Amino acid sequence: MKVILIEKAQWEAGVEKARDSYRLFGPVSQGPFHQFRPLAAGQLPDLDYSNTRMSAKELVYPQSEKMFDYTLDKSQPDHHLLKEPQKDYSPRAVLGIRPCDADAFGLVQRNFDTPDYKDPYWIRAREAITLVGYACSAPCSTCFCTSAGSGPFSESGLDVLLVADGDNFLARVITERGEKFMAAAGWDAAAGDDADARIEALRAEAESRIASHIETDNLRSQDTLSLHGAAFWEEVSFACINCGTCTYLCPTCWCFDIQDENRGKQGMRIRNWDSCMFPLFTLHGSGHNPRGKKVQRVRQRFMHKLKYYVDKYEDGIQCVGCGRCVQHCPVNIDIRRVCELMNSYGPSQDACAVAS
Ligand code: SF4
Ligand code: SF4
Repeated sequence: MKVILIEKAQWEAGVEKARDSYRLFGPVSQGPFHQFRPLAAGQLPDLDYSNTRMSAKELVYPQSEKMFDYTLDKSQPDHHLLKEPQKDYSPRAVLGIRPCDADAFGLVQRNFDTPDYKDPYWIRAREAITLVGYACSAPCSTCFCTSAGSGPFSESGLDVLLVADGDNFLARVITERGEKFMAAAGWDAAAGDDADARIEALRAEAESRIASHIETDNLRSQDTLSLHGAAFWEEVSFACINCGTCTYLCPTCWCFDIQDENRGKQGMRIRNWDSCMFPLFTLHGSGHNPRGKKVQRVRQRFMHKLKYYVDKYEDGIQCVGCGRCVQHCPVNIDIRRVCELMNSYGPSQDACAVAS
């Protein structure tokens, strides 16, 4: 893969040039956090950050998205017809996304783009986006990406990987989409022959700074029903207040709800993020709720990410180890600990717990 050298002094000029061909998004500082926002003319992404509070998923899959407009006014010829609103799927580029967030798009794609079912909104938005990643050289204490199938220099999902190296960025161009972006920005100076070795050295350094790890090797062989019935779920879920924070800021959570909202005779059908942590999420029209208890909802979240997904796709967990849910859960429920409980589980542990 080609590596381009970008002098940091040339960064701003290239970003402005790319603006002629792309709508630009990037991390910007908002109070104590960084968030992805559209970059106004002259505005650069703020790369002095660890990670954003909300993940990048909202750039492809907005928290609230209009699917259709309709009218109930029978005097109109198109009454009761669902009409798709015009949307802007022109090329856009995200500058400075962390590799874990880019990786997450691949996991989420499995839900929105399958051989049997294709979600047009997600697919069109994903196809319109170019991801220019920023390698992570100072991981947080809550990051565990390297044991979750990702990493601070992971290239999965990215079109370009930027690596800070003194006064320069080394830009590894990964895809054709990445090539187009680099051309649009006017960055074309080939880095020296040692660029790849330099990136690999920086990668090893960054990976060695990740202090947090999880073990996932036994998850697949665990018996699903035994794990489902484990005694530890009561203790794990005890403090949860079902706020939904963990699911809303997770880059790999994809659940949604569809609602019709009417004002007078005009209406729209919208899709909103939802959360398996909310009691209403599974409430049936009959009044029955298969996950009416908190323990059932907390168990569902972890069983989905760490067991059902693992069994279905056979290539890892539904988590990229970004650590957001660990950082922001108001009652300190920690997926790393839950993973350890699940990975090391043996039904005999419950027997001992009961006996003691
Ligand atoms: S963030 Fe914590 S308290 Fe809130 S729903 Fe998730 S696990 Fe429960
Ligand atoms: S489960 Fe937590 S650590 Fe894993 S991707 Fe989601 S927010 Fe990040």
